[in-house]
Amino acid sequence: MSNKSQSQGGAFLPSANPPTWLGVMGGGQLGRMFAHAAQAMGFKVAVLEPAVHCPAGEVAERLINADYTDSIALGQLSALCAAVTTEFENVPADSMNLLAHGSFVAPAGSCVSIAQDRVLEKRFFVECAPLSGVMPAPHKVIASNEDIDAIDDALLPGILKTVRMGYDGKGQVRVKTREDVRAAFAAMNGVTCLLEKMLPLAYEVSVLTARGADGQSVVYPIAENVHRDGILFTTTVPGPNVTAECAQRAQDAARAIVAQLGYVGVLCIEFFVLEDGSLVVNEMAPRPHNSGHYTIDACVTSQFAQQVRAMAKLPLGDVRQHSPAVMLNILGDVWFEGDQVREPAWDRVLALPGAFLHLYGKDDPRRGRKMGHVTFVAPTLAEASAQLLAACAILGIAP
Ligand code: ATP
Ligand code: MG
Repeated sequence: MSNKSQSQGGAFLPSANPPTWLGVMGGGQLGRMFAHAAQAMGFKVAVLEPAVHCPAGEVAERLINADYTDSIALGQLSALCAAVTTEFENVPADSMNLLAHGSFVAPAGSCVSIAQDRVLEKRFFVECAPLSGVMPAPHKVIASNEDIDAIDDALLPGILKTVRMGYDGKGQVRVKTREDVRAAFAAMNGVTCLLEKMLPLAYEVSVLTARGADGQSVVYPIAENVHRDGILFTTTVPGPNVTAECAQRAQDAARAIVAQLGYVGVLCIEFFVLEDGSLVVNEMAPRPHNSGHYTIDACVTSQFAQQVRAMAKLPLGDVRQHSPAVMLNILGDVWFEGDQVREPAWDRVLALPGAFLHLYGKDDPRRGRKMGHVTFVAPTLAEASAQLLAACAILGIAP
């Protein structure tokens, strides 16, 4: 059994073993599922989160209610926990750096700060391209009207994205002309943006990886994702469109990217596959990812158990998928029938073979809010997909 002092500092100290404490910055559903996995292994979990009621706070042994930059609260968290992670991308990188004085922190503040800034992230992908073999979409930083004057016509039509704090398609505007860019930039109150060329996507994939403090890394099977209104709608694994060659390239790219970052923990990298078959790297999330939720029910080691292992410097787990799987995100919309709010028919969904329901304990359903997900596992992908269609019919979701 380890004690607190053993885990301080660098990567070469012993593992943190249960029943020691693990900390997580953020109290959302990813923190909740992380806590479930950590507790299943016998760890105790502390959450730092400003909201009094939150999905992770309901299940953690301790909830520290404070701002993410509160130095007293950060001190409490690192005094308690052998290792600390984050469940959200926009955690202040300085807070992760502060926590690192007292605990092992994974991922490091330096990695988080790259992933939360689209300019740094794109620059990193470009620098990494000789090793990863993949480039990001052609792009240009837009910080002033002069930058708009200087846009190369080849970047249009495109998408103007805020450099920071974008998620679920928020902070993005599709633009056809230079005048569109001007209007969109003004509407974003002049915050620094990135203009990306609109690419002809054939489909989208994500690659879930984990890397240990010893430099070993694992890559999960390639997941194929469908978005609707900018929000992940379904994840299918194995991806029906993913060729063996595409999977190999994406896996090799992911390994190069995590190694180059010196990353420790679970990292998810999103890629576009273009109509000509080429692979383009889009962005990365320094944490378990919505497209990795299928691993809970379909893989030997879930992405959350993997995060626990990586941050505790325990051996990484087997990423083998034992069943084909499809994951359906459950948004608050399914609680509404017109203006009426009613409980969805979970009994009918759970009557479908291979259904695993995950609800995040959020009590106010709102349209577009992630409330949970359902994963269907089956002996074949066709059977899992048929159950997903049946669930859509029960829940009133257009397939
Ligand atoms: P997330 O919810 O993954 O954090 P986000 O808001 O950070 O999303 P992106 O992943 O960059 O934003 O973009 C959202 C979606 O918009 C992508 O999944 C893709 O469908 C589409 N998209 C983004 N960039 C491009 C592009 N350059 N060309 C074509 N489609 C794009
Ligand atoms: Mg994305």
